[in-house]
Amino acid sequence: MKDQLIDQYGRQIKYLRFSVTDRCDLRCKYCLPKGFRDFSESAETLTTGEIEHIVSLFAQLGVRHVRITGGEPLVRKNIDHLVSRLARVPGVSDLSLSTNGVRLSRFAGKLKRAGLHRLNVSLDTLDDKRYQDLTGGKLSKVLQGLEEARNENLSPIKINCVFMRGVNEYDVEKLLDYCALRNFTLRLIETMPVGNTGRSMQARYLSLDSIKRKLREKYELIPDVMPGAGPARYYRLQGSSTKIGFITPISQHFCETCNRLRISCNGDIYTCLGDENCYPLGDYLRQGCSDEELIEHIGMAVDLKPKKHEFLNENKQIVRFMAMTGG
Ligand code: SAM
Repeated sequence: MKDQLIDQYGRQIKYLRFSVTDRCDLRCKYCLPKGFRDFSESAETLTTGEIEHIVSLFAQLGVRHVRITGGEPLVRKNIDHLVSRLARVPGVSDLSLSTNGVRLSRFAGKLKRAGLHRLNVSLDTLDDKRYQDLTGGKLSKVLQGLEEARNENLSPIKINCVFMRGVNEYDVEKLLDYCALRNFTLRLIETMPVGNTGRSMQARYLSLDSIKRKLREKYELIPDVMPGAGPARYYRLQGSSTKIGFITPISQHFCETCNRLRISCNGDIYTCLGDENCYPLGDYLRQGCSDEELIEHIGMAVDLKPKKHEFLNENKQIVRFMAMTGG
């Protein structure tokens, strides 16, 4: 039986991002449309046991990094219980969670006790009004959540910021100062044309080269690394321990080293963020396939992983919203 997953381009899959719900309590302009409610039925959403089962199959196949994402994972009932189950899956050495932070003050302690290793929190600006306008949520709740996560020592904490022309391009230095004071790592992300929301924000797209050049006028950026298995390129600001990461899916894709698969909350495997095709692993699980058969299916899904994403190809538009698979 297979004990590792290697795609047809020789890339080994070591990292799984599991969307445990497609529901979200924010409506970020680049992600979910205002008023959107067309979420999966709860009966379709995989149970804790089903998610644990799938993760343990992947762990047998060499996956070591698991990120819990959404939607917003903290809106899922008993998320701390799910975390505690995944933290105990043999082979998973790195368990992280991505959240918008709105409910974090309530959950930080529970997540820590459940065995979560690391946390990513989305935060695009420190300006109350801009935050409200961009996400529909309250910035103060996120900041409170981050303080709580820090008190609970849920480190390292990475702050994910989608970088947008004329929206938050002048907020980066403030965010960097905020992160430096708290030992958080700021990661800037280029806006992706995923869903009609993401596409409509493409007018706001700005390559991260521009901000990197600007930061270099003020700081020397020394190449560095961080725990995790994602595509960010990290730098340390000389003379400090503060790090900044750049995620550049548009200006400089990183597909040759892509080690990831994504799974939606109903168990569909997405082999690439820039591809609409998916493989219905959840259906096979619910049809009662054996572990051997499920492993065969996982192998078949991996064979479908495209060589690279083509976000700028008009004929390959991504219709689904980012909230279906997480980032
Ligand atoms: N709710 C969780 C969160 O906020 O981290 C997890 C899901 S959210 C979809 C994951 C990440 O995707 C967030 O950091 C979000 O900012 C990012 N994202 C969503 N739509 C995007 C887009 N069109 N381009 C770039 N990043 C996007």
